[in-house]
Amino acid sequence: MLTDRFGRAIEYLRLSVTDRCDLRCSYCMPKGFKGFEEPRHWLSFDEIERVVRAFARLGLHRIRLTGGEPLLRKNLHELAARISAIPGMTDLSLSTNGTQLEKQVRALRTAGVTRLNVSLDSLDPSRFAAITNRDVLDRVLRGLIAAREEGFGPIKINMVAMAGVTDEEIDAMVAFCIEQRFVLRLIEVMPVGNTGRNTASMELGPTQERLRARFGLIDGIVPGAGPARYLVSRDGRFQIGFITPISQHFCETCNRVRLGVDGVLHLCLGQNDTVDVRTLLRTGCTDDQLEALLREAIQRKPLRHEFREQPARVVRFMSSIGG
Ligand code: SAM
Ligand code: SF4
Repeated sequence: MLTDRFGRAIEYLRLSVTDRCDLRCSYCMPKGFKGFEEPRHWLSFDEIERVVRAFARLGLHRIRLTGGEPLLRKNLHELAARISAIPGMTDLSLSTNGTQLEKQVRALRTAGVTRLNVSLDSLDPSRFAAITNRDVLDRVLRGLIAAREEGFGPIKINMVAMAGVTDEEIDAMVAFCIEQRFVLRLIEVMPVGNTGRNTASMELGPTQERLRARFGLIDGIVPGAGPARYLVSRDGRFQIGFITPISQHFCETCNRVRLGVDGVLHLCLGQNDTVDVRTLLRTGCTDDQLEALLREAIQRKPLRHEFREQPARVVRFMSSIGG
């Protein structure tokens, strides 16, 4: 098992397969952004598989494919199939904005993706377009239905809570998720990049208590590798998670690291500590050398983020390493 210097077991890798995206969510990526990673720096599927195999030998057993928009990476299902075949892998999930889901959902399921998180901040077409800079709500909703019909479950909806933007739609989203049997997760905005810092955030504690009373919810547990705290309905049919990095950080139970498409390993979402894996991979390293680098990297994982104390620290955008 991989353990960091604070005794946390690191069992989960968020794998960014591209930093490109077909949306421009206001809190994530700036509208005219052009600073994408050059294709020659993208890890190939062979390189990604090699890193994941090395991590798996060290005991890491959960992977989430993310981006940018991961479904823009050509033939992603082939990578998914290669990862799910690695001995020891117990969980392969995907975070997506859903725009390409309808077309790809069958191939993803066949390839062994077991869990899906879909970002959906609004059910109102004009608000959705204002947030994402594209008028594609219908397509995302079709993707969600296709995923459910394909047998994915539970499907989690990630909604970023923005004061004055999505706050008034939270109850409508709860009703939608109850009806459609999706798990809802509300997320506090993180000050990652100027985009995150310039977004009106809101702390979710009061919303949590309001929804608890309004829908008669009780504390619950929902399977997953993440830090969400859940409320569930008494009959267990509805579940809502709260991801509260700002109001109630969960760094003491952090179990993850993040690999960018450029082969840079990020040890904390809210810090700048990184380890370059690509350079070693491309100098013909042995598996032992690769494992040693990953072990050493984990020892450099910081104790916690400092989003409150140092909100200007992280200048990269969330799209570059996948949230
Ligand atoms: N494109 C995919 C998607 O939207 O799900 C995967 C990548 S996206 C960066 C992963 C998650 O990060 C999404 O749920 C998104 O809402 C969230 N995210 C992006 N920027 C954020 C920010 N500044 N604060 C909180 N969450 C953010
Ligand atoms: Fe793209 Fe996801 Fe960022 Fe939105 S949150 S711009 S969909 S990477």
